[in-house]
Amino acid sequence: MALERTFSIIKPDATRRNLTGLINAKIEAAGLRIVAQKRVHMTRAQAETFYAVHSARPFFGELVEQMSAAPVVVQVLEGEDAIKRYRDVMGATNPEKADAGTIRKDYALNMGENSVHGSDAPETAAQEIAQWFAGNEIVG
Ligand code: UDP
Repeated sequence: MALERTFSIIKPDATRRNLTGLINAKIEAAGLRIVAQKRVHMTRAQAETFYAVHSARPFFGELVEQMSAAPVVVQVLEGEDAIKRYRDVMGATNPEKADAGTIRKDYALNMGENSVHGSDAPETAAQEIAQWFAGNEIVG
């Protein structure tokens, strides 16, 4: 399996509780390298664009509200099979269903405030990385 990159967000519920370092420790322990990282405060428009695929869902308004309510940390993670590997470290969307030891099991508050985002496929990873990082900000 070749090196792959995925896009990650440490969400507002986690940055508020000062969990960035603990989440990064789980990312690194899983063999993923943080090759780009910055703290940003998303605007409502940026959050709407980022989650546009969910715009018709009943939770969309609350999701946009939560994502733009406090700073986030956006990241590019690199490693073998990085997209699936990070999804495994994140755990299920609903923290009650997440496996032991995953980020969401240990830190998420609920289904909406679930501490992290990770890309779900190579196409979305490439698109999300390009949305948040210039090429020279990624140092592999
Ligand atoms: N979400 C929510 N309620 C739901 C489903 C999703 O609030 O019933 C939020 C949650 O924050 C989730 C995000 O919308 O992380 C994106 O949903 P998706 O199904 O893509 O889950 P993910 O890929 O983040 O596990």
